[in-house]
Amino acid sequence: MKKSVHKKIVITGAAGFIGFHLAKEFLEQGWSVVGVDMLTSYYDPKIKQKRIALLKKYPTFSFHKINIAKFDAILRMLAHEKPDELVHLAAQPGVRYSLTNPWAYIECNELATLNIFEAAKKLSIPRVVYASSSSVYGRTEKSVMSEDDRTDSQISVYAATKKANEALAYSYNHLYGIETIGLRFFTVYGTWYRPDQALFKFTKSIFSGESIDVYNRGKMKRSFTHVSDIVSGITAILQKKPHGKNEIYNLGGAESVTLLEFIGMLEQAIGKKAKRNLLPMQPGDVRETVADWSKAHTHFGFTPKTPIREGIAEFVEWFRENETFLKSLQQPKQ
Ligand code: NAD
Repeated sequence: MKKSVHKKIVITGAAGFIGFHLAKEFLEQGWSVVGVDMLTSYYDPKIKQKRIALLKKYPTFSFHKINIAKFDAILRMLAHEKPDELVHLAAQPGVRYSLTNPWAYIECNELATLNIFEAAKKLSIPRVVYASSSSVYGRTEKSVMSEDDRTDSQISVYAATKKANEALAYSYNHLYGIETIGLRFFTVYGTWYRPDQALFKFTKSIFSGESIDVYNRGKMKRSFTHVSDIVSGITAILQKKPHGKNEIYNLGGAESVTLLEFIGMLEQAIGKKAKRNLLPMQPGDVRETVADWSKAHTHFGFTPKTPIREGIAEFVEWFRENETFLKSLQQPKQ
């Protein structure tokens, strides 16, 4: 990417896993990055504070602790910052937690995203890139998902709120001409990962000699996507001038494997066998989410590059280096 010192990007969810990596990349490229996050306690905010501390080492980073579900606060901040680009990644993630606390999803996903679009309208921000999810594909007989597939059967509240974001994006694009780019991420992983995610939990348990819970007996298939490939995809999108489009793209990984294959690679990277506790499928989970990312490839050259084995090895090394801190984190909410 070209160095452009004067460009400013607002990234919501910058204390989160993907937002942190995206912010870091844009800072490295010389952009001014404004991070927005309210540091929710769904998983231990200590790791969010750590990510923000790392970003604060860059002189062109600034941070606002704001609840995006409060419209006045986000409007005031955006009016003050006047960003060139707005990437909205803040959300309440997690399929399982949406079974026990659905309200958090309506507030942090639906209301917050409405506020982002409404603020973009009021302030004439030309483009909003926002996170959707592969979970919008829901119940389907297809094993490979493409953007043209129907998405009318979400099987969790989390997925339903992500689908609602896409519907809102369509309306704001149609009514006000804001370019809206929705990204359906497929199981993203990498360093500074979320403690609620399987790879994090498995690694922690294997290191500690504890057994791991393997749902659907490990037969789920996923397009595990390294976070650097997501960051490259978003970077490529922002290199193009906005043209008032409304688009949805799958951003998925270079390879798709079953959970059992994934665990095998993890055991090899750690050098230790896991004690596996094989369990049935959990409600809300989808059996297979394999990405067809050819549309993103055609439109902006998206090509995921990181082999899963390599991504896992990098993750395990990061975990080892930060083991004491990572083991001190509180259990995520479920
Ligand atoms: P994350 O939880 O690490 O980051 C999300 C951040 O948003 C958190 O730091 C949280 O504090 C913040 N946030 C939540 N509600 C907020 C609010 N009302 N106001 C301000 N900040 C708020 O999650 P992530 O994995 O980095 O996910 C980023 C985005 O990508 C999310 O929209 C998520 O739904 C989507 N996504 C992620 C994956 C994945 O595998 N990681 C897959 C599909 C979609």
